[in-house]
Amino acid sequence: MPENVTCIRCGQTREGAGRVLPGALGDDIARSVCAVCWAEWLQQQIRVINHYALRPALKEDREKLYDITREFFGLPSAKEPETTP
Ligand SMILES: [Zn+2]
Repeated sequence: MPENVTCIRCGQTREGAGRVLPGALGDDIARSVCAVCWAEWLQQQIRVINHYALRPALKEDREKLYDITREFFGLPSAKEPETTP
């Protein structure tokens, strides 16, 4: 069972999306995105892929999709160093 998270997008504390993606983006989503917002993104993602004609099998397109995913949730850019203050 996914743990509860305080969602960075809707601000509510409820069931988290869980480990839905690999890598740093997957970490950020597991930490700070709720299951409801993740479900909304899955719907939106279909439109994004169609709009940009993305082919997620390609690394370049996948990285663009991940950038848009971060924008959707308001997650910080992956290029920023992940340091603990
Ligand atoms: Zn949310």
